[in-house]
Amino acid sequence: MDLKFSSDQPSQAERRAVDDLLGPPASGWSGGERAAGDRHVAIAEGSGRAANGGDGRRHLLLPVLHAVNDRVGWISPGAVNYVGQRLQVAPAEVYGVASFYDLFAFEPRPATRTLVCVDLACRIAAGGDVAVPPGSHASPCLGLCERAPATCTLGMDTAQAVADGSPEMMLPGQPPPEAAVPQAGDPSLVLLRRVGVVNPASLDDYRAQGGYVALRRAMSLGPNGVIRELTDSGLVGRGGAAFPAGRKWAAVAAQPARPHELVCNADESEPGTFKDRVLLEADPFSLIEAMTIAGWTVGAERGYLYLRGEYEQALVTFEAALAVARSRGVLGPDVMGLGFPFDIEVRRGAGAYICGEETAIFNSIEGFRGEPRNKPPFPVEVGLFGRPTLVNNVETLVNVLPILMQGGPAFAATGSGTSTGTKLFAVSGSVGRPGVYEVPFGVTARELIDLAGGVSGTLQAVLLGGAAGTFLGPDQLDMPLTFEAARAAGVTLGSGVVMVLNDSVDLGQFLVRIATFFRHESCGQCVPCRLGTVRQEEVTVRLASGRGRALDRELLDDLAAAMRDASICGLGQTAPSAIQSAMTTLGAFR
Ligand code: SF4
Repeated sequence: MDLKFSSDQPSQAERRAVDDLLGPPASGWSGGERAAGDRHVAIAEGSGRAANGGDGRRHLLLPVLHAVNDRVGWISPGAVNYVGQRLQVAPAEVYGVASFYDLFAFEPRPATRTLVCVDLACRIAAGGDVAVPPGSHASPCLGLCERAPATCTLGMDTAQAVADGSPEMMLPGQPPPEAAVPQAGDPSLVLLRRVGVVNPASLDDYRAQGGYVALRRAMSLGPNGVIRELTDSGLVGRGGAAFPAGRKWAAVAAQPARPHELVCNADESEPGTFKDRVLLEADPFSLIEAMTIAGWTVGAERGYLYLRGEYEQALVTFEAALAVARSRGVLGPDVMGLGFPFDIEVRRGAGAYICGEETAIFNSIEGFRGEPRNKPPFPVEVGLFGRPTLVNNVETLVNVLPILMQGGPAFAATGSGTSTGTKLFAVSGSVGRPGVYEVPFGVTARELIDLAGGVSGTLQAVLLGGAAGTFLGPDQLDMPLTFEAARAAGVTLGSGVVMVLNDSVDLGQFLVRIATFFRHESCGQCVPCRLGTVRQEEVTVRLASGRGRALDRELLDDLAAAMRDASICGLGQTAPSAIQSAMTTLGAFR
């Protein structure tokens, strides 16, 4: 198959970045010197896949693009050619994938660059539009909402830190993760109990703080016993969908097709969410242990951590912990001498909110554009690489440790009703002490906000669940934070965003930012979302600027109905939620 390469050549630095990751090219067909053996042989290895794009290593496309972008700062046409040649993927496909992601550039720029968050919590902190200094780049939420208004520097420091694998490595200018957890050190904490207490680089310290007790307990229970504890615990997924974890694990474990896959969703791109980041930075071995238990239980020998691209400190910390875990035999061909193999690979996202959707993650890891797939088939049957796949987010997986240590029924006794256990809430905006808070399900929104230092100024509203969430008015703060109470009130807890707006926030412009966010993040695959998010933004801008037309509110309602009913995935279905909620609950655009 003619992959249609152009005559553009990679620079030496680009070539080195690719070869360092893929190894030297094996033949003239993949970018090396022409040798006698290359003649008349189209694709020597993996030829069956070549016509579909790839020599069997297409799943390395995203890591290779990162390697070039990190090393050089941007991806030139010559680099696109060379990557395509090395992976036997058409350059048009390489470009099509690369251009899906915001973190990649196609014009020359420095390798190190500063992103300025212009999203919701940072708008509140800045009192309106966030100024972006010359030479910096505006960015959607960076997941640093406790430090709003937030900036972050991406670039070669991280690549070097990860390459060094230095366990002590902290990126310059990074505060310690416990700075984001005002409760750090509180003995009542469960999921956050080691934050600020354990050295995130030390496996010995992790063990001294109760690490790997849960894995031993899992071994004694057996896979069915682990699933029974999980089911008894009543744990539901913490990513927003609240699906029962025990049922999901059982469904994957029961699939006859082998091998199975495990994906930990650490993309966490919902504006206002930063709880998984804190766990990854402060207590990485807890996630390694939890993923090991999950892999062993459902029959996966490998787990992928899909990490949002902007989480550079989390990347450095987690990679360092992985290196220690491998060197000490708690990951590898025989985990802790217990007779089973398991390892974890980190895959960095590259600035696409939609890649938090579970099937979009599969496409992204496989080297395709991060567009969601139709369901069914569901991931438990046909997921990553077409195999049965367990997908859970970081917080869900880390909950497995206390469940196994306490027992499922004891875990189920905490919380409220069917909302069992504790929940991490990312509290931001107009509060005294923004940060990640852990409370049992059932505390009220008012109690949580008081814990976070109370409202700064006069309360206007609380956004629950992030940009895809819903608003609580000042008279709704006594709602218990449980899935049942949220459902009854017609709101959503989502992934645990609690963003407080005082009366100085311009609600109309806040809603415009939400509309702009969804217009920008729509993957464009289906019409209701691709066009609906554009029209929604246009109408919201008109209404917020006082230039609304007679039927604009009705038009927003119609657009919302079309997006909710006909979009392929949750992004399109929830893109109108906050705006609709602001109109009904807060009287916006009246
Ligand atoms: Fe893409 Fe939006 Fe359709 Fe989801 S709903 S598949 S994000 S266009």
